[in-house]
Amino acid sequence: MQIIKQKHDLQQQVKTLKFQGKSIGFVPTMGALHAGHLALVKQALQHCDVVVVSIFVNPTQFENPEDLLQYPRNLEKDVEMLSQLDDALFVFQPEASQIYGKDVNAKHFSFDGIEDQMEGQFRKGHFDGVGTVVKKFFELVQPDKAFFGEKDFQQLQIIRKLVEKLQLTVEVVGCPIEREESGLARSSRNERLSLEQRQKAARLYAVLQQAKYCFGTKSALEVKKWVKTQFEVESDLKLEYFEIANEDTLQPLHEKQRDEKYRAFIAAYSGEIRLIDNIALN
Ligand code: AMP
Repeated sequence: MQIIKQKHDLQQQVKTLKFQGKSIGFVPTMGALHAGHLALVKQALQHCDVVVVSIFVNPTQFENPEDLLQYPRNLEKDVEMLSQLDDALFVFQPEASQIYGKDVNAKHFSFDGIEDQMEGQFRKGHFDGVGTVVKKFFELVQPDKAFFGEKDFQQLQIIRKLVEKLQLTVEVVGCPIEREESGLARSSRNERLSLEQRQKAARLYAVLQQAKYCFGTKSALEVKKWVKTQFEVESDLKLEYFEIANEDTLQPLHEKQRDEKYRAFIAAYSGEIRLIDNIALN
């Protein structure tokens, strides 16, 4: 495994790998790695000759400066975890100046309305930041395949749209959500929860599973009403949104269509910590 900090060194390495005819997989992360990230890296290693894992807490995707400041960072442990996987790994861990120079700002993107839903409504400018950094990384790494978790399903669809719009040749691979034993979706943010909060946060996935069951016989509106009532009595978790949306367009569902795929999405706060999750409904 090699650790690369300079953009220039990464570019050199990519050039050599391309010359050698090696396929490159890419897994972008913000570090504080857990089993969810490792599942992505393992999948990438199965499909590509070498894998670049970036560890970069991207400042332009945080609309809340406090959240950026509090975001967990644990580089030593991250490197330790990755070093146990495979030799064919390159860890790219740049400073913000390597990526942005002096212009630490997001570019504006249109993702055909995907960016206006859910996370886009509650985290203004978030997807511009994601689009900006992922475009820069794709240009540097030139991956054949890039691996993203369904944990951030809206982000995954944003990246697919970015690739389509920019006519990039990278194949975007979506990977299933890794969960803790309780059902709570693994997240770097879980580290900031107390033991009790962490146990109670498992309720999010339980609600999603119940919503999926209800969706078999009830309308989206009825399911949404039911979920809201669940959080009126639930004092430890504060619901931000629950939505049922089309998997491709992310537009909220009004009337079920037979051949369309739907997903339920949830965001809630446990104390100060914002958690998100989702589930396929059909
Ligand atoms: P992050 O470090 O949170 O930006 O996540 C980096 C990548 O890991 C993203 O593609 C996430 O969707 C993915 N990821 C994060 N948590 C999980 C999880 N529990 N299961 C699967 N993928 C995940």
